Amino acid sequence: MQIAFDNSYASLPDRFFARVRPAEASAPRLVKLNRPLADELGLDADWLSGPDGVEVLAGRRVPEGAASIATAYAGHQFGSFVPQLGDGRAILLGEVVGRDGRRRDLQLKGSGRTPFSRGGDGKAALGPVLREYVVSEAMAALGIPTTRALAAVLTGDPVVREEVMPGAVLTRVASSHIRVGTFQFFAARGDVEGVRLLADHVIARHYPDAAAAERPYRALLDGIIARQAALVPRWLLVGFIHGVMNTDNMQVAGETIDYGPCAFMDEYDPATVFSSIDQHGRYAYGNQPRIALWNLTRLAETLLPLLDPDPDRAVADAEDALKAFAPSFERHYHAGLRRKLGLFTEQEGDLELAGDLLRRMAENSADFTLTFRHLAEAAGPAGDAEPVRSRFIDPTSFDAWAEGWRARLAQEPQDAETRRAAMRAVNPAFIPRNHRVEAAIQAGLRGDFAPFEELVAVLARPYDDQPDYASYMDPPEPHQRVTRTFCGT
Ligand code: AMP
Ligand code: MG
Ligand code: MG
Repeated sequence: MQIAFDNSYASLPDRFFARVRPAEASAPRLVKLNRPLADELGLDADWLSGPDGVEVLAGRRVPEGAASIATAYAGHQFGSFVPQLGDGRAILLGEVVGRDGRRRDLQLKGSGRTPFSRGGDGKAALGPVLREYVVSEAMAALGIPTTRALAAVLTGDPVVREEVMPGAVLTRVASSHIRVGTFQFFAARGDVEGVRLLADHVIARHYPDAAAAERPYRALLDGIIARQAALVPRWLLVGFIHGVMNTDNMQVAGETIDYGPCAFMDEYDPATVFSSIDQHGRYAYGNQPRIALWNLTRLAETLLPLLDPDPDRAVADAEDALKAFAPSFERHYHAGLRRKLGLFTEQEGDLELAGDLLRRMAENSADFTLTFRHLAEAAGPAGDAEPVRSRFIDPTSFDAWAEGWRARLAQEPQDAETRRAAMRAVNPAFIPRNHRVEAAIQAGLRGDFAPFEELVAVLARPYDDQPDYASYMDPPEPHQRVTRTFCGT
């Protein structure tokens, strides 16, 4: 057996999934294998990148021991409930337990139609596959909980979108693919037993401490809320916009999932939206915490029958759990902002200081990533403020803010060099800028994967100076700006 599958989801009742085989790719070709990740998972990278492995990664051959299922889920899409979505273009090959003892899903995305495909073709085009590879791996390197990309392969088959594109498959790795929408699938059918079985599975797999709690289902809800309240601030602190925070795209283990029209913002503006289908800005940068809570409220609704046999008490219990989201989110977000500013201690006025900087950044079209990265130099022994102040249309707006900031820094115990190093460890130099991602995709579509390779390599070390690749730090020139991103189909 080439892959030591250890499947647990597939032993849940039949109504949780459909057994399917991936579509046969006609001419599989490896674009990229993530060797470090393969090693971490205990997979044989040489075999995976050889002809048999590539056939598996393309869905042409189902490996021994695989579950090969498409999971069922529902979801609120832009606020409207769809009772049946499910894996319409993904197949869960199965689970493996890595070297670190962690259980993870191997999923093929773009491997053909399933019973959940509705009108779709079940396929993925090369562009969105490269995009998910780049952005999810960049998120991982930034230290943000996320699904991973194990491999990208070409299938050799065309995919018809606005144009005919090369078909591709992404092998996605996640601690699981269970979503808020998975709970909704059963709740919407009045299948309380299904909700309970799913909750028990999620507790065993992702929240083992909840099993020992006095009230395991309440502890499960608390745990999921806590992880989302820790995740979303991580997004905000690097300028990430998920783009489609539908309930089917919120994973219950707390990993960022479903990289479609996601993007990192260049200039700071909390109203930023990239997704072409998000016409009302529901999933704008600054709206993400609110939406996370909205989604968690939908999750809590599915758990009501498990929380308390008395409906009123169950609602009160769910509301009590949900009340923890805002303070927990704020604690994480504010702690992160303080670290970005080089503040190790907590003082009154810190948040106003951070808020004032963000306001000035928005007014001055300052680049989010570079403002914070260069702030480390202004806080260091040399006190070089020029790189950061020049990010502002009116640099004196930064100067005015920096006076208060310097006064505040003077009250910190650390020396300037320690502070500079700490700031550089939380304020990345390299993020997957849209214009770079787009350029790597366009080259890939022409058959040249060198820019994709280089981009992936640079983004694997986001906090290091990489002088040879310094241009990857640059915001787009006006003609390079990408203002719209499209759904990952
Ligand atoms: P997403 O917008 O990627 O979160 O997908 C929403 C739903 O549409 C999920 O049920 C997907 O499996 C399904 N879906 C997306 N693209 C396709 C496709 N090309 N073929 C079949 N189903 C799809
Ligand atoms: Mg989705
Ligand atoms: Mg998707």
